[in-house]
Amino acid sequence: MAQEYIEIRGARENNLKDVSLRLPKRTIIMFTGVSGSGKSSMVFDTIANEAQRLLFENFSMFIRNFLPRYPQPEAEAIENLNMAVIVDQKRLGGGSQSTVGTATDISPVLRMLFSRLGKPYAGYANVFSFNDPQGMCLECNGLGRKIGIDPEALIDASKSLNEGAIIAPGISSWERDGYVASGWFDNDKKLADYTAEEMDLLLNSGPRKYKLAVGNKEMNASYEGLLYRFNRKYIARDIQTLSERTRQKVEPFLKLGPCPLCKGARLNQAALSCKINGYNIADLSAMEVDELVEVIKEIEDPAAAPMIRTLTERLQHLIEIGLEYLSLDRATDTLSGGESQRVKMVKHLNGSLVDVMYIFDEPSVGLHPRDVHRLNELLVKLRDKGNTVIVVEHDPDVIKVADYIVDMGPYAGSEGGRIVYEGSYAGLLQADTLTGNYLLHTRPLKQAFRQAKGSLPVVHATVNNLKDVSVDIPEGVLTVVTGVAGSGKSSLINEVFLRQHRDAVVIDQAPVGVSSRSNPATYTGIMDDVRKAFAAVNRVDAGLFSFNSKGACSNCQGLGVTYTDLGFLEGVKLPCEVCGGRRFKDEVLAYTLNGKSIADVLGMTVRQALEFFTLKEVQPKLQALSDVGLDYLTLGQPLSSLSGGECQRLKLASELHKRGSIYVMDEPTTGLHLSDIDHLLTIMNRLVDGGNTVIVIEHHLDIIRNADWIIDMGPGGGNKGGMVIFEGTPQELLGAKHSLTSQYLR
Ligand code: ADP
Ligand code: ADP
Ligand code: ZN
Ligand code: ZN
Repeated sequence: MAQEYIEIRGARENNLKDVSLRLPKRTIIMFTGVSGSGKSSMVFDTIANEAQRLLFENFSMFIRNFLPRYPQPEAEAIENLNMAVIVDQKRLGGGSQSTVGTATDISPVLRMLFSRLGKPYAGYANVFSFNDPQGMCLECNGLGRKIGIDPEALIDASKSLNEGAIIAPGISSWERDGYVASGWFDNDKKLADYTAEEMDLLLNSGPRKYKLAVGNKEMNASYEGLLYRFNRKYIARDIQTLSERTRQKVEPFLKLGPCPLCKGARLNQAALSCKINGYNIADLSAMEVDELVEVIKEIEDPAAAPMIRTLTERLQHLIEIGLEYLSLDRATDTLSGGESQRVKMVKHLNGSLVDVMYIFDEPSVGLHPRDVHRLNELLVKLRDKGNTVIVVEHDPDVIKVADYIVDMGPYAGSEGGRIVYEGSYAGLLQADTLTGNYLLHTRPLKQAFRQAKGSLPVVHATVNNLKDVSVDIPEGVLTVVTGVAGSGKSSLINEVFLRQHRDAVVIDQAPVGVSSRSNPATYTGIMDDVRKAFAAVNRVDAGLFSFNSKGACSNCQGLGVTYTDLGFLEGVKLPCEVCGGRRFKDEVLAYTLNGKSIADVLGMTVRQALEFFTLKEVQPKLQALSDVGLDYLTLGQPLSSLSGGECQRLKLASELHKRGSIYVMDEPTTGLHLSDIDHLLTIMNRLVDGGNTVIVIEHHLDIIRNADWIIDMGPGGGNKGGMVIFEGTPQELLGAKHSLTSQYLR
């Protein structure tokens, strides 16, 4: 078969400078280059966008009348595209109804297997689905979780009834006195010394009568166990119907726990009693994937052989991509960005699409160096099925697997947008580009380590897979927490450590800014200073220069674009017809500051703004943005268009001025080119030298080499991890026998 090519001529999206490319089809193509050089502008805004637009053109004229025109990317010609499948790091939504099993299409096959082989026979496949009324547990409506009360929070067991052991809110003093007056308890006995029967009577008893002495008469009074009463008053009824005051009082005592009937399995008892080789479907769904595949292989039944083969193959894909520590029942909304992307990838490996363009955005995110080769094997597999695989990537070990490399640069923003090299990997190593140079040299291991000024202990941590972990986190130094995916790094730091240190500054990749009007200027507070400066010079109200004021374009409400919701497809945004994207009314645009309108200012890059502004309030904020390597961003760029890595650096920039704090960063190298990492290391060191404690979860060997202290988790993922296997300096880590991280550092 003759080699075919995707052809792009004269691309000019964002910072692209009239770029032309010929990309060989059915190969692995990597886009490299510093962040902001234009990789996404080419791959997502040009290639993927055009492929989506063409898809629209396939609809009949009739349907197209209901669709808006999909904006054509700025390019002279884009030819010979295939359908695009975009596998990005957006979290998989779908709430708790979406699980790893449903997202990978493995659960439906497992359900069919139970309806075919399970004993006793329970029905057809729907009976095994928690999304289906036939299968769901009716106690929790298939959620597996239910709001309950923490009984220990309602009483103080170190006291007796007379000493005021009942501390539950919303129980009247009259009701409280009833427990003492019932005569069924020793009112001076501490609750901790109660027998099981006494405790059950105190907490769980349903309504019953007792005689209450009032003066010299006896009256019938009614008694209810404390939990029973609390439940009746506050939980059995819709919590929304309670008054705001009552709700605030009661809510801290409620906790979301496993459903008491199905114990979290989500299915009704008929479905749960149906078993294969002693396991019900919930048992199998709760197993880690590498254990589950062994159980499935043991099932011997010729009639079900094709189903067993399909299941084994799909589970094997999850293992190959390094997700062997997940279970099928894991809700997808609890997965990290990297895990979400790998789950999506597995779905495509399971499917049978051929000759499509698969487009990946940094698929190595969250993967330990040990697991990167597995990712490479899957990219190769997709290619060998006859697909074109296009990848934006920074990881040197992933870049190696490319058949064709497009290196963009030379720098970011307006100083980027060109192709500085295209061709083979071997050729890139010879090329004099930032990527080529950095691939050739590795940073040296740190030799002088800072001494801790104290320690922040974590004791007996057991969250998720943590196996009773106790560890000291040193104060005043740079600590890097390492370990394979699923080993427990986030559980230890994000779930345990941060709960003890709520004042810590957390810098993660979660999107910043909920409003579509936020941008770097509003986020960092620069916008407030700029508005005031415009108002003072022009002697008008500062409010005029805000996107959500009467000065904003009334057609787009200051957004600069209008959104059209397509229901079943992703929404489409078009530039506003009235203001042409400038966001303000003409009369507001007529006011200027040193010759620039407010729209001109929002169109400046950070670097341009640094030259333009001399305001002492604005300068340090702009400088901080520049220090984290974001000088190519425009002040008015919507935060929703920033990548995870850019969001992280924006947060970093606005937190840099704090002193004496704890900083926690989760994979800060995401989205960073090898050369950007110098910047990041400088910032981290500056924070530590300024008296802060910095804790970083990271796989990147260059960051590990520069740590003062390393905490290595493992040895494996899931059940096979959850322990601290090494603590010490990078020098000492070199000699650690059982650490996988150590092997890769050598
Ligand atoms: P990379 O993917 O290499 O990190 P991008 O293609 O995302 O780089 O960005 C290239 C340049 O275009 C940067 O200066 C970036 O800020 C700018 N840019 C990207 N998206 C937008 C947008 N929606 N509006 C304005 N500028 C943008
Ligand atoms: P790492 O950060 O090292 O990749 P994690 O701390 O995220 O590891 O995960 C450790 C273990 O805990 C894994 O088995 C993972 O599947 C499990 N886990 C993490 N978060 C959750 C959660 N929200 N619900 C259930 N299990 C979880
Ligand atoms: Zn239930
Ligand atoms: Zn407008």
